[in-house]
Amino acid sequence: MKKVEDILKAGLCLGCGLCEAVVGKEKCNMTISKEGFYRPQFKTALTESENNTILQVCPGISVMGNNLPSVSSNSDTKVWGGVLDVTESWSLDDKLRKKSATGGVISALAIHLLDSKKVDAILQVGVVEESWLYNGLLISRTKEEVFKNAQSRYAPALVFDRIIEILESSNDIFGFIGKPCDIAGIKNFVKIYPKYENRIKYTLAIFCAGIPSYEATKQLVNSKNKIEDPNFLKYRGDGWPGDFEAKWADGDSIKASYNDSWGKVLGKTLGLRCKICPDGIGLLADISTGDSWNTKDGYPDFTEADGRNFCFIRTENGKELYQDAVAAGAISNEKIDVSTLKNIHTYQYNRRILSAWRISAMYLITGGLIKFNNLGLLNIMFKKSLKSGVKEFLGTLKRIELK
Ligand SMILES: Cc1cc2nc3c(=O)[nH]c(=O)nc-3n(C[C@H](O)[C@H](O)[C@H](O)COP(=O)(O)OP(=O)(O)OC[C@H]3O[C@@H](n4cnc5c(N)ncnc54)[C@H](O)[C@@H]3O)c2cc1C
Ligand code: SF4
Ligand code: SF4
Repeated sequence: MKKVEDILKAGLCLGCGLCEAVVGKEKCNMTISKEGFYRPQFKTALTESENNTILQVCPGISVMGNNLPSVSSNSDTKVWGGVLDVTESWSLDDKLRKKSATGGVISALAIHLLDSKKVDAILQVGVVEESWLYNGLLISRTKEEVFKNAQSRYAPALVFDRIIEILESSNDIFGFIGKPCDIAGIKNFVKIYPKYENRIKYTLAIFCAGIPSYEATKQLVNSKNKIEDPNFLKYRGDGWPGDFEAKWADGDSIKASYNDSWGKVLGKTLGLRCKICPDGIGLLADISTGDSWNTKDGYPDFTEADGRNFCFIRTENGKELYQDAVAAGAISNEKIDVSTLKNIHTYQYNRRILSAWRISAMYLITGGLIKFNNLGLLNIMFKKSLKSGVKEFLGTLKRIELK
Protein backbone atom coordinates (compact mmCIF):
# COMPACT_ATOMS: atom_id res chain seq x y z
CA MET A 1 0.00 0.00 0.00
CA LYS A 2 1.24 3.50 -0.86
CA LYS A 3 1.88 5.83 2.07
CA VAL A 4 1.87 9.61 2.49
CA GLU A 5 5.56 9.30 3.40
CA ASP A 6 6.19 8.06 -0.17
CA ILE A 7 4.99 11.45 -1.50
CA LEU A 8 7.50 13.24 0.70
CA LYS A 9 10.33 10.82 -0.06
CA ALA A 10 9.85 11.24 -3.79
CA GLY A 11 9.95 15.05 -3.54
CA LEU A 12 6.34 15.35 -4.75
CA CYS A 13 4.90 17.35 -1.85
CA LEU A 14 3.84 20.89 -2.81
CA GLY A 15 3.23 21.99 0.77
CA CYS A 16 -0.42 22.72 0.01
CA GLY A 17 -1.69 22.04 3.54
CA LEU A 18 -4.39 19.50 2.66
CA CYS A 19 -2.66 16.92 4.88
CA GLU A 20 -3.33 19.10 7.93
CA ALA A 21 -6.87 19.98 6.77
CA VAL A 22 -8.04 16.40 6.32
CA VAL A 23 -6.46 14.72 9.38
CA GLY A 24 -6.62 17.70 11.75
CA LYS A 25 -4.06 19.74 13.69
CA GLU A 26 -3.87 17.10 16.43
CA LYS A 27 -2.20 14.73 13.98
CA CYS A 28 -0.44 16.98 11.50
CA ASN A 29 1.13 20.41 11.38
CA MET A 30 2.49 22.17 8.34
CA THR A 31 5.99 23.43 9.09
CA ILE A 32 8.68 25.15 7.03
CA SER A 33 11.58 22.88 6.03
CA LYS A 34 15.20 24.04 6.10
CA GLU A 35 14.99 24.37 2.31
CA GLY A 36 12.20 26.94 2.78
CA PHE A 37 9.08 25.00 1.73
CA TYR A 38 5.96 23.97 3.67
CA ARG A 39 5.91 20.28 4.58
CA PRO A 40 3.52 18.21 6.74
CA GLN A 41 4.83 16.89 10.06
CA PHE A 42 2.85 13.98 11.43
CA LYS A 43 2.66 13.71 15.21
CA THR A 44 1.04 10.27 15.33
CA ALA A 45 0.54 7.41 12.93
CA LEU A 46 -2.30 7.82 10.43
CA THR A 47 -5.13 5.32 10.08
CA GLU A 48 -5.43 3.55 6.74
CA SER A 49 -8.45 5.66 5.90
CA GLU A 50 -6.63 8.96 6.69
CA ASN A 51 -3.66 7.84 4.62
CA ASN A 52 -5.93 6.98 1.67
CA THR A 53 -7.79 10.28 1.89
CA ILE A 54 -4.52 12.20 1.63
CA LEU A 55 -3.41 10.09 -1.33
CA GLN A 56 -6.65 11.02 -3.10
CA VAL A 57 -6.64 14.75 -2.39
CA CYS A 58 -2.91 15.43 -2.77
CA PRO A 59 -2.25 17.65 -5.81
CA GLY A 60 1.41 16.60 -5.65
CA ILE A 61 0.48 13.16 -6.97
CA SER A 62 -3.00 13.56 -8.38
CA VAL A 63 -4.05 15.91 -11.18
CA MET A 64 -7.26 14.85 -12.93
CA GLY A 65 -7.93 16.68 -16.19
CA ASN A 66 -11.27 16.89 -17.90
CA ASN A 67 -10.24 16.44 -21.56
CA LEU A 68 -12.11 19.56 -22.70
CA PRO A 69 -12.06 20.22 -26.47
CA SER A 70 -9.20 22.30 -27.87
CA VAL A 71 -9.72 25.66 -29.61
CA SER A 72 -8.50 24.14 -32.87
CA SER A 73 -7.31 20.80 -34.16
CA ASN A 74 -3.90 22.28 -34.98
CA SER A 75 -1.43 20.18 -32.98
CA ASP A 76 0.44 23.31 -31.73
CA THR A 77 -2.66 24.75 -30.12
CA LYS A 78 -3.49 21.35 -28.62
CA VAL A 79 -0.52 21.92 -26.30
CA TRP A 80 -2.60 24.55 -24.45
CA GLY A 81 -5.40 22.08 -23.62
CA GLY A 82 -9.14 22.56 -23.79
CA VAL A 83 -10.21 26.14 -24.51
CA LEU A 84 -13.40 27.75 -25.74
CA ASP A 85 -11.70 31.05 -26.49
CA VAL A 86 -8.29 32.73 -26.22
CA THR A 87 -8.13 36.49 -25.73
CA GLU A 88 -5.87 39.33 -24.66
CA SER A 89 -7.25 41.51 -21.88
CA TRP A 90 -6.48 43.88 -19.01
CA SER A 91 -8.30 45.56 -16.16
CA LEU A 92 -10.04 48.78 -17.22
CA ASP A 93 -9.31 50.18 -13.76
CA ASP A 94 -5.94 51.84 -14.42
CA LYS A 95 -4.82 51.69 -10.79
CA LEU A 96 -5.48 47.95 -10.65
CA ARG A 97 -3.84 47.35 -14.02
CA LYS A 98 -0.70 49.13 -12.81
CA LYS A 99 -0.55 47.55 -9.36
CA SER A 100 -1.20 43.96 -10.44
CA ALA A 101 1.31 41.36 -11.65
CA THR A 102 0.29 41.57 -15.29
CA GLY A 103 -2.81 43.47 -16.46
CA GLY A 104 -4.93 42.78 -13.39
CA VAL A 105 -7.46 40.52 -15.13
CA ILE A 106 -7.51 38.01 -12.28
CA SER A 107 -8.23 40.72 -9.70
CA ALA A 108 -10.73 42.46 -11.99
CA LEU A 109 -12.65 39.19 -12.48
CA ALA A 110 -12.60 38.60 -8.71
CA ILE A 111 -13.91 42.13 -8.04
CA HIS A 112 -16.57 41.61 -10.69
CA LEU A 113 -17.64 38.36 -9.01
CA LEU A 114 -18.11 40.29 -5.76
CA ASP A 115 -19.78 43.35 -7.34
CA SER A 116 -22.25 41.25 -9.31
CA LYS A 117 -22.93 39.10 -6.24
CA LYS A 118 -22.09 35.92 -8.13
CA VAL A 119 -20.07 34.96 -5.04
CA ASP A 120 -19.91 36.12 -1.42
CA ALA A 121 -16.12 36.07 -1.16
CA ILE A 122 -12.89 35.22 -2.92
CA LEU A 123 -10.39 32.68 -1.59
CA GLN A 124 -6.93 33.80 -2.63
CA VAL A 125 -3.31 33.86 -1.54
CA GLY A 126 -1.87 36.88 0.21
CA VAL A 127 0.69 37.71 2.85
CA VAL A 128 -0.53 36.61 6.29
CA GLU A 129 -1.20 39.17 8.98
CA GLU A 130 1.83 40.50 10.87
CA SER A 131 4.27 38.96 8.40
CA TRP A 132 6.29 40.51 5.62
CA LEU A 133 7.15 37.13 4.09
CA TYR A 134 4.74 34.28 4.73
CA ASN A 135 1.77 33.54 2.46
CA GLY A 136 -1.53 31.85 3.21
CA LEU A 137 -5.12 31.63 2.02
CA LEU A 138 -7.08 34.82 2.70
CA ILE A 139 -10.79 35.56 2.35
CA SER A 140 -11.45 38.73 0.36
CA ARG A 141 -14.94 40.17 0.69
CA THR A 142 -14.32 43.65 -0.73
CA LYS A 143 -12.75 45.30 -3.74
CA GLU A 144 -10.10 46.78 -1.43
CA GLU A 145 -9.12 43.36 -0.11
CA VAL A 146 -8.78 41.91 -3.62
CA PHE A 147 -6.72 44.95 -4.62
CA LYS A 148 -4.44 44.45 -1.61
CA ASN A 149 -3.84 40.80 -2.52
CA ALA A 150 -3.08 41.46 -6.22
CA GLN A 151 0.45 40.79 -7.61
CA SER A 152 2.45 37.55 -7.77
CA ARG A 153 4.14 36.18 -4.70
CA TYR A 154 7.05 34.06 -5.92
CA ALA A 155 7.20 31.95 -2.79
CA PRO A 156 5.35 29.07 -1.11
CA ALA A 157 1.81 29.59 0.19
CA LEU A 158 -0.12 27.58 2.72
CA VAL A 159 -3.32 27.27 0.73
CA PHE A 160 -5.46 24.56 2.28
CA ASP A 161 -4.57 24.01 5.94
CA ARG A 162 -7.75 25.87 7.08
CA ILE A 163 -10.02 25.03 4.14
CA ILE A 164 -12.48 22.88 6.11
CA GLU A 165 -12.62 25.43 8.93
CA ILE A 166 -13.33 28.21 6.39
CA LEU A 167 -16.03 26.23 4.58
CA GLU A 168 -17.66 25.15 7.83
CA SER A 169 -17.74 28.66 9.29
CA SER A 170 -20.40 29.96 6.85
CA ASN A 171 -22.63 29.03 3.92
CA ASP A 172 -20.81 31.48 1.66
CA ILE A 173 -20.25 30.81 -2.03
CA PHE A 174 -16.66 31.38 -3.12
CA GLY A 175 -14.51 32.14 -6.12
CA PHE A 176 -11.09 30.51 -5.80
CA ILE A 177 -7.85 31.89 -7.28
CA GLY A 178 -4.70 29.83 -7.36
CA LYS A 179 -1.82 28.25 -9.21
CA PRO A 180 -2.82 25.33 -11.44
CA CYS A 181 -1.83 22.82 -8.73
CA ASP A 182 -3.99 24.74 -6.22
CA ILE A 183 -6.92 24.32 -8.60
CA ALA A 184 -6.09 20.58 -8.85
CA GLY A 185 -6.04 20.49 -5.02
CA ILE A 186 -9.45 22.12 -4.61
CA LYS A 187 -10.95 19.86 -7.32
CA ASN A 188 -9.52 16.72 -5.65
CA PHE A 189 -10.78 17.97 -2.29
CA VAL A 190 -14.39 18.56 -3.36
CA LYS A 191 -14.46 15.16 -5.05
CA ILE A 192 -13.75 13.51 -1.69
CA TYR A 193 -15.90 16.02 0.24
CA PRO A 194 -18.83 16.50 -2.20
CA LYS A 195 -20.81 18.54 0.33
CA TYR A 196 -18.47 21.45 -0.48
CA GLU A 197 -18.65 21.10 -4.25
CA ASN A 198 -21.26 23.82 -4.82
CA ARG A 199 -19.49 26.20 -2.45
CA ILE A 200 -16.62 26.88 -4.89
CA LYS A 201 -18.44 28.29 -7.87
CA TYR A 202 -15.58 29.72 -9.97
CA THR A 203 -11.93 28.75 -10.30
CA LEU A 204 -9.38 31.19 -11.74
CA ALA A 205 -5.79 30.08 -12.37
CA ILE A 206 -2.57 32.03 -12.81
CA PHE A 207 0.03 30.59 -15.17
CA CYS A 208 2.86 29.14 -13.14
CA ALA A 209 6.45 28.11 -13.79
CA GLY A 210 7.06 26.93 -10.21
CA ILE A 211 7.26 27.86 -6.53
CA PRO A 212 10.56 29.32 -5.38
CA SER A 213 11.67 28.65 -1.81
CA TYR A 214 11.33 31.26 1.00
CA GLU A 215 15.13 31.03 1.22
CA ALA A 216 15.36 32.63 -2.23
CA THR A 217 13.32 35.65 -1.07
CA LYS A 218 15.56 35.94 2.00
CA GLN A 219 18.65 35.77 -0.21
CA LEU A 220 17.42 38.72 -2.26
CA VAL A 221 16.41 40.71 0.83
CA ASN A 222 19.61 39.87 2.74
CA SER A 223 21.76 41.33 -0.03
CA LYS A 224 21.12 44.63 1.81
CA ASN A 225 22.73 43.28 5.03
CA LYS A 226 20.04 44.69 7.33
CA ILE A 227 19.37 43.28 10.78
CA GLU A 228 15.69 44.27 10.79
CA ASP A 229 13.05 42.65 8.59
CA PRO A 230 11.62 44.76 5.80
CA ASN A 231 8.14 46.22 6.27
CA PHE A 232 7.27 46.02 2.57
CA LEU A 233 7.92 43.36 -0.06
CA LYS A 234 6.77 42.91 -3.61
CA TYR A 235 8.03 40.45 -6.19
CA ARG A 236 6.79 42.35 -9.25
CA GLY A 237 3.85 44.55 -10.28
CA ASP A 238 3.39 48.29 -9.94
CA GLY A 239 4.41 48.25 -13.58
CA TRP A 240 4.74 45.31 -15.99
CA PRO A 241 6.62 43.27 -15.16
CA GLY A 242 7.73 45.67 -12.37
CA ASP A 243 10.67 45.19 -10.02
CA PHE A 244 11.25 43.03 -6.98
CA GLU A 245 11.38 45.52 -4.11
CA ALA A 246 11.84 45.48 -0.34
CA LYS A 247 11.62 48.52 1.95
CA TRP A 248 12.57 49.10 5.60
CA ALA A 249 11.12 51.40 8.24
CA ASP A 250 14.27 53.57 8.19
CA GLY A 251 13.73 54.41 4.52
CA ASP A 252 16.25 51.93 3.08
CA SER A 253 15.16 49.83 0.11
CA ILE A 254 16.42 47.44 -2.55
CA LYS A 255 15.18 46.73 -6.05
CA ALA A 256 15.96 44.02 -8.58
CA SER A 257 14.58 43.71 -12.09
CA TYR A 258 12.30 40.78 -13.01
CA ASN A 259 15.19 39.21 -14.92
CA ASP A 260 17.59 39.55 -11.98
CA SER A 261 15.11 38.41 -9.30
CA TRP A 262 13.11 35.64 -11.00
CA GLY A 263 15.75 34.76 -13.61
CA LYS A 264 18.84 34.65 -11.38
CA VAL A 265 17.63 33.82 -7.85
CA LEU A 266 13.96 32.88 -7.33
CA GLY A 267 13.56 30.62 -10.35
CA LYS A 268 16.68 28.62 -9.40
CA THR A 269 15.09 27.12 -6.29
CA LEU A 270 12.10 25.22 -7.65
CA GLY A 271 11.34 21.78 -6.20
CA LEU A 272 11.27 18.53 -8.16
CA ARG A 273 7.47 18.42 -8.41
CA CYS A 274 7.47 21.75 -10.24
CA LYS A 275 10.07 20.40 -12.65
CA ILE A 276 7.79 17.54 -13.71
CA CYS A 277 4.61 19.65 -13.56
CA PRO A 278 2.06 18.46 -16.15
CA ASP A 279 0.00 21.66 -15.90
CA GLY A 280 1.43 25.13 -15.33
CA ILE A 281 -1.30 26.57 -17.55
CA GLY A 282 -4.47 26.07 -15.53
CA LEU A 283 -6.11 23.24 -17.47
CA LEU A 284 -8.66 22.59 -14.71
CA ALA A 285 -9.77 26.19 -14.13
CA ASP A 286 -12.73 28.09 -15.58
CA ILE A 287 -10.30 30.77 -16.79
CA SER A 288 -6.51 30.76 -16.70
CA THR A 289 -4.26 33.67 -17.50
CA GLY A 290 -0.62 34.61 -17.95
CA ASP A 291 1.58 37.37 -19.27
CA SER A 292 0.95 38.42 -22.83
CA TRP A 293 4.56 39.61 -23.11
CA ASN A 294 5.54 42.06 -25.79
CA THR A 295 7.61 40.32 -28.38
CA LYS A 296 10.77 41.32 -30.17
CA ASP A 297 11.35 39.16 -33.25
CA GLY A 298 8.51 36.93 -32.00
CA TYR A 299 10.12 36.20 -28.59
CA PRO A 300 9.32 37.64 -25.14
CA ASP A 301 10.61 41.05 -24.29
CA PHE A 302 10.39 42.18 -20.66
CA THR A 303 10.73 45.93 -21.33
CA GLU A 304 8.37 47.84 -18.99
CA ALA A 305 4.92 48.47 -20.52
CA ASP A 306 1.22 48.59 -19.63
CA GLY A 307 0.25 45.10 -18.46
CA ARG A 308 -1.57 42.70 -20.75
CA ASN A 309 -2.91 39.25 -19.85
CA PHE A 310 -3.78 36.59 -22.30
CA CYS A 311 -6.73 34.50 -21.17
CA PHE A 312 -7.70 30.92 -21.77
CA ILE A 313 -11.44 30.71 -21.30
CA ARG A 314 -11.85 27.03 -20.68
CA THR A 315 -15.40 26.32 -19.52
CA GLU A 316 -18.92 27.62 -20.18
CA ASN A 317 -18.92 28.90 -16.59
CA GLY A 318 -15.73 30.85 -17.34
CA LYS A 319 -17.09 32.13 -20.65
CA GLU A 320 -20.20 33.52 -19.01
CA LEU A 321 -18.11 35.23 -16.31
CA TYR A 322 -15.64 36.66 -18.83
CA GLN A 323 -18.37 38.02 -21.13
CA ASP A 324 -20.23 39.49 -18.18
CA ALA A 325 -17.05 41.23 -16.94
CA VAL A 326 -16.44 42.65 -20.44
CA ALA A 327 -20.05 43.89 -20.65
CA ALA A 328 -19.76 45.51 -17.21
CA GLY A 329 -16.64 47.42 -18.32
CA ALA A 330 -14.33 45.60 -15.87
CA ILE A 331 -11.91 44.23 -18.47
CA SER A 332 -10.96 44.87 -22.09
CA ASN A 333 -11.37 42.19 -24.73
CA GLU A 334 -8.93 41.89 -27.65
CA LYS A 335 -8.29 39.14 -30.16
CA ILE A 336 -5.00 37.25 -30.01
CA ASP A 337 -3.58 34.70 -32.39
CA VAL A 338 -3.12 31.56 -30.32
CA SER A 339 -0.14 30.50 -32.45
CA THR A 340 1.90 33.43 -31.02
CA LEU A 341 1.79 31.83 -27.56
CA LYS A 342 4.37 29.24 -28.53
CA ASN A 343 7.00 32.00 -28.72
CA ILE A 344 5.68 34.09 -25.83
CA HIS A 345 5.60 31.05 -23.54
CA THR A 346 8.31 28.79 -24.90
CA TYR A 347 9.06 27.44 -21.42
CA GLN A 348 5.45 26.37 -20.79
CA TYR A 349 5.13 25.04 -24.33
CA ASN A 350 8.22 22.85 -24.05
CA ARG A 351 7.35 21.75 -20.55
CA ARG A 352 3.93 20.51 -21.68
CA ILE A 353 5.47 18.56 -24.55
CA LEU A 354 8.21 17.01 -22.46
CA SER A 355 6.35 16.41 -19.22
CA ALA A 356 5.03 12.96 -20.26
CA TRP A 357 8.68 11.83 -20.45
CA ARG A 358 9.52 13.31 -17.06
CA ILE A 359 6.37 11.90 -15.48
CA SER A 360 7.08 8.42 -16.88
CA ALA A 361 10.42 8.43 -15.07
CA MET A 362 8.73 9.44 -11.81
CA TYR A 363 5.96 6.88 -12.33
CA LEU A 364 8.51 4.13 -12.82
CA ILE A 365 10.66 5.01 -9.81
CA THR A 366 7.73 5.46 -7.43
CA GLY A 367 5.87 2.33 -8.55
CA GLY A 368 2.91 4.25 -9.95
CA LEU A 369 2.43 6.76 -7.13
CA ILE A 370 1.41 9.61 -9.43
CA LYS A 371 -1.88 9.91 -11.29
CA PHE A 372 -1.80 12.70 -13.85
CA ASN A 373 -4.74 11.74 -16.07
CA ASN A 374 -6.70 13.26 -18.96
CA LEU A 375 -4.25 16.13 -19.41
CA GLY A 376 -3.66 15.54 -23.13
CA LEU A 377 0.02 14.71 -22.57
CA LEU A 378 0.24 11.57 -24.72
CA ASN A 379 -1.03 13.42 -27.81
CA ILE A 380 1.83 15.91 -27.69
CA MET A 381 4.80 13.97 -26.31
CA PHE A 382 6.26 13.26 -29.77
CA LYS A 383 6.18 16.87 -30.95
CA LYS A 384 9.90 16.95 -30.28
CA SER A 385 12.33 14.23 -31.33
CA LEU A 386 12.41 10.85 -29.60
CA LYS A 387 16.00 11.69 -28.64
CA SER A 388 14.98 14.79 -26.67
CA GLY A 389 12.19 12.84 -24.95
CA VAL A 390 14.56 10.08 -23.87
CA LYS A 391 17.02 12.72 -22.63
CA GLU A 392 14.29 14.21 -20.39
CA PHE A 393 13.34 10.75 -19.14
CA LEU A 394 16.93 9.91 -18.20
CA GLY A 395 17.55 13.40 -16.77
CA THR A 396 14.54 13.02 -14.47
CA LEU A 397 15.64 9.54 -13.37
CA LYS A 398 18.96 11.10 -12.32
CA ARG A 399 17.28 13.92 -10.38
CA ILE A 400 15.04 11.62 -8.34
CA GLU A 401 16.66 10.84 -5.04
CA LEU A 402 14.34 8.77 -2.88
CA LYS A 403 15.23 9.77 0.68
C1 LIG B 1 4.67 31.18 -8.42
C2 LIG B 1 4.26 31.93 -9.68
C3 LIG B 1 4.73 31.53 -10.93
C4 LIG B 1 4.35 32.22 -12.09
N1 LIG B 1 4.76 31.77 -13.33
C5 LIG B 1 4.27 32.37 -14.46
C6 LIG B 1 4.53 31.85 -15.77
O1 LIG B 1 5.21 30.82 -15.91
N2 LIG B 1 4.04 32.50 -16.84
C7 LIG B 1 3.27 33.62 -16.72
O2 LIG B 1 2.80 34.16 -17.71
N3 LIG B 1 3.01 34.14 -15.50
C8 LIG B 1 3.47 33.53 -14.38
N4 LIG B 1 3.17 34.04 -13.15
C9 LIG B 1 2.45 35.31 -13.06
C10 LIG B 1 0.94 35.16 -13.17
O3 LIG B 1 0.53 33.97 -13.73
C11 LIG B 1 0.45 36.25 -14.03
O4 LIG B 1 0.83 37.45 -13.53
C12 LIG B 1 -1.06 36.17 -14.28
O5 LIG B 1 -1.21 36.65 -15.58
C13 LIG B 1 -1.94 36.98 -13.36
O6 LIG B 1 -1.81 38.33 -13.64
P1 LIG B 1 -2.86 39.40 -13.13
O7 LIG B 1 -2.29 40.76 -13.32
O8 LIG B 1 -4.19 39.10 -13.74
O9 LIG B 1 -2.89 39.02 -11.58
P2 LIG B 1 -3.23 39.92 -10.34
O10 LIG B 1 -4.49 40.68 -10.61
O11 LIG B 1 -2.03 40.66 -9.89
O12 LIG B 1 -3.57 38.79 -9.28
C14 LIG B 1 -2.61 37.84 -8.95
C15 LIG B 1 -3.33 36.75 -8.20
O13 LIG B 1 -2.42 35.71 -7.94
C16 LIG B 1 -2.57 35.27 -6.59
N5 LIG B 1 -1.26 34.79 -6.16
C17 LIG B 1 -0.13 35.51 -6.02
N6 LIG B 1 0.88 34.73 -5.62
C18 LIG B 1 0.37 33.50 -5.47
C19 LIG B 1 0.92 32.26 -5.03
N7 LIG B 1 2.20 32.13 -4.68
N8 LIG B 1 0.10 31.18 -5.01
C20 LIG B 1 -1.20 31.28 -5.36
N9 LIG B 1 -1.78 32.43 -5.77
C21 LIG B 1 -0.99 33.52 -5.83
C22 LIG B 1 -3.03 36.51 -5.84
O14 LIG B 1 -3.78 36.14 -4.72
C23 LIG B 1 -3.88 37.22 -6.87
O15 LIG B 1 -5.21 36.79 -6.78
C24 LIG B 1 3.52 33.36 -11.98
C25 LIG B 1 3.07 33.76 -10.72
C26 LIG B 1 3.40 33.05 -9.57
C27 LIG B 1 2.88 33.50 -8.23
S1 SF4 C 1 -1.62 16.92 0.40
FE1 SF4 C 1 -0.42 18.80 0.15
S2 SF4 C 1 0.80 18.95 2.04
FE2 SF4 C 1 0.04 16.83 1.88
S3 SF4 C 1 1.67 15.70 0.83
FE3 SF4 C 1 0.25 16.41 -0.76
S4 SF4 C 1 1.06 18.37 -1.44
FE4 SF4 C 1 2.07 17.87 0.51
S1 SF4 D 1 4.87 24.58 -11.51
FE1 SF4 D 1 3.06 23.29 -11.34
S2 SF4 D 1 3.38 22.17 -9.41
FE2 SF4 D 1 4.79 23.89 -9.38
S3 SF4 D 1 3.68 25.50 -8.27
FE3 SF4 D 1 3.30 25.79 -10.46
S4 SF4 D 1 1.40 24.70 -10.92
FE4 SF4 D 1 2.16 24.01 -8.94
